[in-house]
Amino acid sequence: MKNVINDSTIAKVNQQSAEAVCYHVQQTGLSKAVICTTGTSARYAVDISINECSCVFYQEELIPRRHAIKLLTSIGRDPKDYCSDIILLNIWGDVCRRS
Ligand SMILES: [Zn+2]
Repeated sequence: MKNVINDSTIAKVNQQSAEAVCYHVQQTGLSKAVICTTGTSARYAVDISINECSCVFYQEELIPRRHAIKLLTSIGRDPKDYCSDIILLNIWGDVCRRS
């Protein structure tokens, strides 16, 4: 499938990846993990199979944020692949609502 994401999305993902380097991943399932931040006790539950993170940025921006990116890169996936999937899902969601 053709990758449909644009340069600004790629730049955002790269920036989020850079900010995620200090996090720790505790994988809790095939697509799930708890992301631990250093310096604070904050923990975020991520599930990439349903595009969710407990910090809600993922759902709002429709691209993986730093917690999801941390999980994706730790299991050898490219976060950019998940951007186009989410955008496509969003387009289909609009089509469904109109019909
Ligand atoms: Zn998050």
